[in-house]
Amino acid sequence: MNRHELTRARFENALVRSMSRRRLLAGTGLAASLAVVASLPGRASVVLGQGTPAATPASGTGFSGDPFTLGVASGDPLPDGVVLWTRLAPEPTDGGGMPPVPVEVLWEVASDDAFGDIVQSGSAVAAPTLGHSVHVDVTGLDPATEYFYRFMAGGEVSPTGRTRTAPAAGATVDGIRFIHASCSNYEHGFFSGYRGVADDRPDFVLHLGDYLYEYPSNAGFTPSTYEPVRSHTGAETTSLVDYRNRHALYKTDPDLQAAHAAAPWIVTWDDHEVENNYAAAISEDSLPEDTFLERRAAAYQAYYEHMPLRPSSLPTGPDMQLYRGLRYGSLLDIAMLDGRQYRSDQPCGDGAQVRCAAALDESQTMLGPDQERWVLAQLDASEATWRTIGQQTMMGQLNVSPGEPTFSMDQWDGYPAARNRFLQHVSSRGISNTVVLTGDIHSAWVNDLLMDFEDANSEVVATELVCTSITADNPLVDQLQLALLFNPHIQFVDGLHGYTLNTVTADSWTAEMRTVPNVTEETAEVSTLATWVIESGQAGAVEG
Ligand code: FE
Ligand code: CA
Repeated sequence: MNRHELTRARFENALVRSMSRRRLLAGTGLAASLAVVASLPGRASVVLGQGTPAATPASGTGFSGDPFTLGVASGDPLPDGVVLWTRLAPEPTDGGGMPPVPVEVLWEVASDDAFGDIVQSGSAVAAPTLGHSVHVDVTGLDPATEYFYRFMAGGEVSPTGRTRTAPAAGATVDGIRFIHASCSNYEHGFFSGYRGVADDRPDFVLHLGDYLYEYPSNAGFTPSTYEPVRSHTGAETTSLVDYRNRHALYKTDPDLQAAHAAAPWIVTWDDHEVENNYAAAISEDSLPEDTFLERRAAAYQAYYEHMPLRPSSLPTGPDMQLYRGLRYGSLLDIAMLDGRQYRSDQPCGDGAQVRCAAALDESQTMLGPDQERWVLAQLDASEATWRTIGQQTMMGQLNVSPGEPTFSMDQWDGYPAARNRFLQHVSSRGISNTVVLTGDIHSAWVNDLLMDFEDANSEVVATELVCTSITADNPLVDQLQLALLFNPHIQFVDGLHGYTLNTVTADSWTAEMRTVPNVTEETAEVSTLATWVIESGQAGAVEG
């Protein structure tokens, strides 16, 4: 190999590394772990997610320690309400450490952080069947208003969270500041980016998946630019107990807790919340589908247990309703998509491939027929100034080879027929100001979404803003930038870690790439690396 070929090979390898299939399924603990949970004495008295079983009083319960080790969170703000979340876990990475009985948790919402003006309060049941998590769907709040909340159980008081309701339906909104973020690998670095998220005090945070990684310690990804700064505990996650412990490990991070406590989060998942590059019931290791669906059920339940989601997302076996719409007055409509649960298997195989004929088959789907119809109808019905799609993998074409065009099959590049249907709809209906927000690829990108990616002069239908990873490893910046040479619709790429801060007004959408210089120092400070602006009515961003 000459020097150029070597660089190219490293670039291709690095770009698809996170998408390559591995052979690392650890253990067969799923059935055994589920049996342990099913045998807990508290289970029979609690109907999953329903009813109000007799619960242990909140005072004098005598837990083995502070039950609020995982912090607090809020999510999915509406004009009159928000979801409040916590999970009782005095021994967070060892099963939680709670007695196997339902426990009453008190909650308070106040207009001030000293809780001098409590506007609502109540109690919820933390049930062992849901890992002693609580999801309080608070209603009756005022629109576009800041609130503070906290929980009490076992004589302990939780940290205080700040949240903010959405503006009233149709209300004129001067501006919205929100963050999109993804891909926080605990081993790959300190979550300084999440501290930046908290310090920026956005109106809300969109998390686009890879909230955690399922790998055992120091496996899967091999960080190319630094050594692991801390370690995953336990084997690769496959059982409910495994996924609970992994979520809890992540949630013990003080910067992640701060980010949750600072603003409501609107979350969706990608692959690593379950398993690298899975597609619906298809595992990367080609397990029997029913075996993989048991694992998926465990992962989905643990995800629900640890996220500020409404009870309408409570999973049923291996199925969970995650795609949903949210609105911010007359300024912004949000569609959060689930690009994992309903997709076809990667039509041409996984990894980086030359596109095969199967990818062009109209039956191939990223979203599944129901969700695809739903999101197109959402776009049709939207009367807001801006429409945004929060989703997982890169939608813009990314040819990773200067030779024969080669694409990562796990991204929309593996599903060009599905991508064409989406972009054709946006174009033919004249749906303006559509901004696709993406994670997954561990680097920040600004893409023109073209009607025809083979014709660089074709219509720019929409704009894609890909956030970089909070920590998860990526190729070196100079290797990433090779992509600009043979993808003319890509305007920007960078591999520093961080997130994107969006400021949206009626006139423009400004995206600031907020990055840290490294993820090896806990004290790394966030600063703005680059700013890109979309003018209303003009798809495609320009450097600000
Ligand atoms: Fe990732
Ligand atoms: Ca991913």
